[in-house]
Amino acid sequence: MRVVVIGSGIVGAGAAYHLSRRGVSVTVVDAGCQGGATQAGAGIVCPWVDHPEDDDWYRLTREGARAYPALVEELGEDIGYAKVGALLVAEDPVDLEPVRTLLRRRHAGAPEMGDVVDVDTPTELFPPLSDNLSALLVPGAARVDGCSVRDALLRACVARGAVVRTGIAALTPDGQVLLHQADAANGTRRSPAVAGSQADEGQSGGPAGTGAFAGPGDGDAFAGQVNEGGFADPAGGNASAGRVDEGGIAGRADEGEYGSWRQAAPMAAPLATPLAAARAHAPAAPASMEALRLAGEGVPVEADMVIVAAGAWTGEVCRPLGVELPVFPRRGQILHATMEGVDTAWWPIILPRVGPYLLGFPDSRVVVGATVEDVGFSPRVTMGGLDEVIEAGLRVAPGLFNATVTEARVGLRPVYAPGRALIGRLTDRVVVATGLSAYGLTAGPFTGEIAAALALGETPPIDITPYAPA
Ligand SMILES: Cc1cc2nc3c(=O)[nH]c(=O)nc-3n(C[C@H](O)[C@H](O)[C@H](O)COP(=O)(O)OP(=O)(O)OC[C@H]3O[C@@H](n4cnc5c(N)ncnc54)[C@H](O)[C@@H]3O)c2cc1C
Repeated sequence: MRVVVIGSGIVGAGAAYHLSRRGVSVTVVDAGCQGGATQAGAGIVCPWVDHPEDDDWYRLTREGARAYPALVEELGEDIGYAKVGALLVAEDPVDLEPVRTLLRRRHAGAPEMGDVVDVDTPTELFPPLSDNLSALLVPGAARVDGCSVRDALLRACVARGAVVRTGIAALTPDGQVLLHQADAANGTRRSPAVAGSQADEGQSGGPAGTGAFAGPGDGDAFAGQVNEGGFADPAGGNASAGRVDEGGIAGRADEGEYGSWRQAAPMAAPLATPLAAARAHAPAAPASMEALRLAGEGVPVEADMVIVAAGAWTGEVCRPLGVELPVFPRRGQILHATMEGVDTAWWPIILPRVGPYLLGFPDSRVVVGATVEDVGFSPRVTMGGLDEVIEAGLRVAPGLFNATVTEARVGLRPVYAPGRALIGRLTDRVVVATGLSAYGLTAGPFTGEIAAALALGETPPIDITPYAPA
């Protein structure tokens, strides 16, 4: 069996990994689109605090989080995964009660969250934090480095003979894959991918490699080189024009009215129909295959099955099949800073009820994010976005005032307009897996496993009926 996976973000890499474990012949194709979500993701894995009224979301993210420890062991390399715990913080302790009730309710079904406890002095765990906050500690929460996960998954695939190719994949109406050249001129960029992979349109069958993976779309997306030719910004580039309040946090003391703890929850109120929702939210001129300026005929890539895991671009990729998938990009800008000489590696994740989250990584790094913006395919770091993140971040953690800003990243979260994940068969040879919104680093590898099972005609590890294409 030969499977082509379109997209090597965390979902596509996860699918390829699970397929290659089964001895399937896998080719992964990635266009290196600017603004891939995986390279920007913060890395919070704490599913139990969100989606109190949405069991389908909760099941997917809970199982995704649950799958990590085994994955870490299988991969056998550092993917930045560590159970550092999460501090849920609020100025008014009353605001912690709904989430406490929710966690109590969920504990029996997810004991891996650990025993939730009050923390009297949160600054002992996260020193830069404001000292007027009340906090609950969820000890089982973890952080992970999205790029490292993706790269490790791809390396493991390549070591088993998978091929990773750089190029824009286009589908024909009957689900064949054509590979077109990707470069800076069409809004994508070449990247060398895994050692032994192919950055051109040559023959497949590259040697196994263990070299570093230069992930598509990583790095300097905001260094002034973004070619927005392929990414029309219908909001005129005005970040504030498309701002969305994803709070979904009703703010009341009883759990019934309480929304997701985290702000970056998927759309709170789905519109009447997927297409209506898509029209309301999708950019007027999305980054279409036309916008990507496909050159020439394209080179066929042989496959028995195709998995489309193209993130925010999935709707465009699938359009030739005659399906309209209302998948749209939700921009997130996120900041990396360092506190020289400070060991931040085991700081807990800070999840305020309102405002930005913060998390520590090794190398004295602290990550603060993120904006939540519906501005179409415009993967740009903006003054307004950075201002928002910094201003709100310093309110939560004033001790970061002197931290050195080292990097700003931007990514397009893939959102499926009905407000849920999108996983299922589109045709008898095409499987789709996307829509993980703000939860893709949590559920991405697991979603890849589901997609792999679907491609192989096997029963997926959970019931996927709720995520079927509408
Ligand atoms: C700022 C930010 C913070 C986040 N924080 C968290 C977090 O803390 N926890 C969490 O769980 N999640 C988080 N997320 C969400 C998570 O990052 C995403 O849900 C996840 O990365 C989506 O992965 P994906 O593989 O579906 O898409 P992507 O990573 O976007 O990958 C899609 C890939 O498809 C490729 N592609 C597109 N079109 C084509 C084509 N025609 N041919 C070939 N390739 C193509 C693109 O180049 C891209 O590499 C965050 C996201 C952002 C932006």
